[in-house]
Amino acid sequence: MNIIFVGRRPGSVRQLDLRHPAVITGALVLVLLIVGSAFSVGMSFGHHHGNARALDQLGSWSAEILAQRQQLDQTKRALQEKVNAIAMRVGQMNASVIRLDALGKRLTQMANLDNGEFDFGSPPPQGGSEGAADGQPAQIPSLTSMIDSLQEQLSSREQQLGVLENLILTRELNKQVYPEGRPVGQGWISSFFGQRPDPFTGYTAFHRGVDFAASEGAQVKAVGAGLVTWAGDRSGYGEMVEINHGNGLFTRYGHNEKLLVKAGDMVRKGQPIALVGSTGRSTGTHVHFEVLKNGAQVDPLRYVGEVR
Ligand SMILES: [Zn+2]
Repeated sequence: MNIIFVGRRPGSVRQLDLRHPAVITGALVLVLLIVGSAFSVGMSFGHHHGNARALDQLGSWSAEILAQRQQLDQTKRALQEKVNAIAMRVGQMNASVIRLDALGKRLTQMANLDNGEFDFGSPPPQGGSEGAADGQPAQIPSLTSMIDSLQEQLSSREQQLGVLENLILTRELNKQVYPEGRPVGQGWISSFFGQRPDPFTGYTAFHRGVDFAASEGAQVKAVGAGLVTWAGDRSGYGEMVEINHGNGLFTRYGHNEKLLVKAGDMVRKGQPIALVGSTGRSTGTHVHFEVLKNGAQVDPLRYVGEVR
């Protein structure tokens, strides 16, 4: 196959033989160029397409980051709310310590105890509501140290109140066991402690107690709490009750008609222990009341609280 080129000038005719190797090579080169450029355009298009996907990816990432940031903010707010709630509780605990201190002080004063032993006045840990007053949100580290301090204060108060309780209870117990008052509700003192003519013999004898004249069957009451160490007939006393009050103090109640307790019983202050009678060496219904201190009878009147 031949292509004939006709020039403008007359007679200039050129002929191109398509089978000529140079022409085939040229055509091949042309085809390669076209295919190559098409490939390059395609590649370029593909590249642009990849960029769009990366952009999409970036967009979804930033949306995710935003969502996470919002969640983080929400969590922070929730945490701060909890911290604020704890701060409020710490504030309330502070108030409790202050009230506890006031109670401790009052008890110490009421019991007339040495104030130096107790320090209910030491300042409680400051904090809690203070941060809020500054407009600053409560901080966890300061809260932690405040709670530690409160815990220390509370355990110190607990110990002190325990000691105070023991002191008051011991005092109350002492008051309970200490013989005080008269063994019968009604009844005049028919005979005092000391030298007197013996009602049976008329000879001078030492009366080791105080006699309370009382009606038969009236209640005889313990003048202090203690342990019954005798309940029964005893020479001279008739039906007698003896109570050990501790601290070397005993009381005896003689000439009873009937006993309401037995040896080994624990009795309270004011508890009925017998009924008035005239058993033993007695001339009429009465209670022969004795107080023994370290084994010897003493004048019961100072325990009865009445003067001669
Ligand atoms: Zn007597």
